[in-house]
Amino acid sequence: MKPLLGVYGASGCGRGVMPIVRARYGHEADLVFIDDAPMKEANGYPILSWDAFRANPAEKRVCLAIANSEIRAKLSDKCASAGIPLFEARAQNVVEMHDVIIGEGAILSPFVTLTSNIRIGRCFHANLYSYVEHDCVIGDFVTFAPGVKCNGNIVIEDHAYIGSGAVIKQGRPGHPLTIGRGATVGAGAVVTKDVPPNMTVVGVPARQLEKELVC
Ligand code: UDP
Repeated sequence: MKPLLGVYGASGCGRGVMPIVRARYGHEADLVFIDDAPMKEANGYPILSWDAFRANPAEKRVCLAIANSEIRAKLSDKCASAGIPLFEARAQNVVEMHDVIIGEGAILSPFVTLTSNIRIGRCFHANLYSYVEHDCVIGDFVTFAPGVKCNGNIVIEDHAYIGSGAVIKQGRPGHPLTIGRGATVGAGAVVTKDVPPNMTVVGVPARQLEKELVC
């Protein structure tokens, strides 16, 4: 019996990830989506409920293909409780240079580049054309939308979200530029200084997004 690989999430993210999984594992494993919404099929692949997936007797692994990092964390705990490991979905043209350590369950989309001396935590999502330059430290459940430019000597803490095309200016050795836990960087922003935890920044240069006044 072939192993069964589940791409958790059958929406936009999952449908973008399934071709990466097929290219890497399609010849050696059966592939399905898993989704908690009642759906039957997407792009020719069956969509199983979690219970149906878990009940399958094959050796099973899961890739969490949902952009929301809090949901990834919740589903990661669910997989761990069920004893089902996560697997990495890495596009064939990803460039990884030297001394890169990356945690379980990452999704590395086409044209992603990871250069040298990089540490990355669990369930990292690096979408199309993103890069991580030298000496960066990235936490758990960090999400890069397409085209993120993460330059050298940057620390990105757990659950940060970096929007499409954002540029994060390089830090200095021993003085990294830090994006705090749970922070959000808007699409197209140019981040020139530290972003505190849970803050949203936008623009060029990036500034805190003012909260809208609700009357
Ligand atoms: N989903 C799920 N379990 C959860 C949360 C979400 O199966 O606990 C599924 C949800 O039904 C949807 C997908 O994950 O099909 C998320 O889709 P969405 O378009 O919100 O996000 P994206 O695909 O862009 O990450």
